[in-house]
Amino acid sequence: MHRRALPVVVLPAFVALLSSPAAAQSPSWTEPFDPVRIADDVYYVGSAGLSSFLFTSSDGHILVDPTVDENVPGILESVRSLGFDPADIRVVLVTHAHWDHVGGLASLLAATGAELRVSEADAPFVEAGTDFGFASDGYAAATVDALVADGETVRVGDAALTAVLTPGHTPGCTSWRGTMRVAGVERPFVLVCSLSVLDLYDLAGDDATYAGQADDFCRSLTRLEALEADVFLSNHGGFFGLAGKAERVRAGEAEAFVDPEGLPAFLVNARRAIDEARVGQGLAACG
Ligand SMILES: [Zn+2]
Repeated sequence: MHRRALPVVVLPAFVALLSSPAAAQSPSWTEPFDPVRIADDVYYVGSAGLSSFLFTSSDGHILVDPTVDENVPGILESVRSLGFDPADIRVVLVTHAHWDHVGGLASLLAATGAELRVSEADAPFVEAGTDFGFASDGYAAATVDALVADGETVRVGDAALTAVLTPGHTPGCTSWRGTMRVAGVERPFVLVCSLSVLDLYDLAGDDATYAGQADDFCRSLTRLEALEADVFLSNHGGFFGLAGKAERVRAGEAEAFVDPEGLPAFLVNARRAIDEARVGQGLAACG
């Protein structure tokens, strides 16, 4: 009798483990991290494991990704400690609608009065305070002030980021590109939205997480592979070697984030993982 009851007890816990991002949360996501200068006018203001970037100008600033709600006070403190006023953040952009990157939006917008711009496909999730692709406790909803289209450049003074839509991880996953001056030299950068195929994503068949997701991953890879980046950034510090590069900056090496091999190396691994996921679900590898 007891044995028959067992699956009833175990199964919900197992499902919760798969579907709850909290189960996957790393302690590094909320571990404080001293802000670091990436380029002459660009700073890392996130936690050890979740990226938040500040693109500054004399006319105001752009912040990318507020990360989780509990990190927002630390982000604001980092902005202040760099000598900037959070109230001068005019625009907030995001990489994608998962709580670890957008959970702090409502708090950050309230603290700064900034405008929020999000891709059309991810905007409904942000406005509902829900995660694309899995059930979670959600996060505080935020009002999207304007949509961002593929190829659109968002500007505040001299700070400028151009949207490169790279759907797959979410339907509106947005990478950003542009140039940043590093030690006086103009350098192309790419800030990659995640290309991770979550275990719970169903890429094929009638139950696909969203129609076209499997092919979107391939197309997004190809798009990113065509870009050159002297500076490679992404929304998790571990993706682009944040810790090591930050240490070198702190040791006085102003160009530590100049790493032309970073993006290609990341994409080789991403392609391998995406192909493995596709093949594992009965699809061909990306062409
Ligand atoms: Zn995500």
